[in-house]
Amino acid sequence: MSETKKIMIGLLLGVAVGLGLAALPGNIYDVTNTYLLSPVGTVFLNLIKMLVVPIVFFSIILGVMGLGDPKELGRVGTKSLLFFLTTTAIAIVLALGVAQIIKPGDRGDFPTTGLEFDASGSEESSNIVQTFVNMIPTNPVQALAEGNMLQIIVFAALIGFAMIALGEKARTWRRFVKQGDRIMMYLIHLVMKLAPYGAFALIASAIGGIGLDAVYAMGWYMFAVVLTLFLHSVVVYGGAVALIGKMNPIFFFKNFYEAMTFAFSTSSSNATLPVSMEVAQTKLGVPRSISSFVQPLGATVNMDGTAIMQGVATIFIAQVFNADLTITELATVVITAVLASIGTAGVPGVGLVMLALVLQSVNLPVEGIALIIGVDRVLDMLRTSVNITGDAACAVVVSKLEEKHLPAVDEDSWDEVDAK
Ligand code: ASP
Repeated sequence: MSETKKIMIGLLLGVAVGLGLAALPGNIYDVTNTYLLSPVGTVFLNLIKMLVVPIVFFSIILGVMGLGDPKELGRVGTKSLLFFLTTTAIAIVLALGVAQIIKPGDRGDFPTTGLEFDASGSEESSNIVQTFVNMIPTNPVQALAEGNMLQIIVFAALIGFAMIALGEKARTWRRFVKQGDRIMMYLIHLVMKLAPYGAFALIASAIGGIGLDAVYAMGWYMFAVVLTLFLHSVVVYGGAVALIGKMNPIFFFKNFYEAMTFAFSTSSSNATLPVSMEVAQTKLGVPRSISSFVQPLGATVNMDGTAIMQGVATIFIAQVFNADLTITELATVVITAVLASIGTAGVPGVGLVMLALVLQSVNLPVEGIALIIGVDRVLDMLRTSVNITGDAACAVVVSKLEEKHLPAVDEDSWDEVDAK
């Protein structure tokens, strides 16, 4: 049986067992989760997270060396950011439209008093200018230790430039980085053999923990989010991959879904990075030099799935609180949701905290978030899959656009140079 089939079975069994546990008395779930599902899931997750920082570090250096020219990196960067911003803006407009049509907040009785939500976390990461200023690490070792992705990208890219400039003088480092990358990729292959079991445990644990009553009550809201996520993936990503990337969208989704299932089970773009880069490079044929730059950047700043949830949630909360949003307010929502999704870190649940910013921008009550928090765990799984699919679609599109500029890097020729 192929690896992907095994992961799929793990995923489906995880959903089935999770739903079964959610229907049983709470203590059965607690015991199973504490002694079985959570430990197995966490061991797997930690094994992958362990590889994120070294993989990003090594592969960005290699990627920059592969591009060979700072101008090329500038072009790849500009095109990627343009793709990220455009698709995120489309995502949020789509979300607002779907939510206006479905009207999830008008279907059912939702309490508007006695709600509580602590939005303090959103303030810290709300300053976008600061996010960009902070990209330059004052201490790269700290950046690596803390897993600060943007800072690692900048530091690794600079090392890559220096290595190109120094040529032969950096020979030992070249071998070190290349071999380091190979070692990490080998480990990823090894860890991925556990993916079916890991995915099973993570999914059963997440789904078993949600109250089915909350799901019933929030059915329309969830439907609106899921529908928009689906439409955005098929139409926007499928369209971009087909029209600009010149790749059959079915081929794209069929090959990339392994990474999507992984994002689904971990709810973390960052933790999925090693897998999504591996899949994009080996199965979608994205050149390493593009993938290793575009995907880590995307995992940090490009979150269309998160923007979609924020758009639907804003309309939902406005409807529950009987607040009509004007066109200007809707435009404000689009802008703040784009910024909020850029500021959202690729870890579970942050998108919900950042929603506070969007609500505040149009004076909606932040406490409204308390209504959707109960079902957010499942939606987080789905939106994370969409988040990383957007990064891969961007990598496919940019590699097509840059095809003629890319130098044909034959990494093994470095071995020959090294051997001399
Ligand atoms: N979990 C999401 C991610 O890692 C972020 C979020 O929306 O909470 O991509």
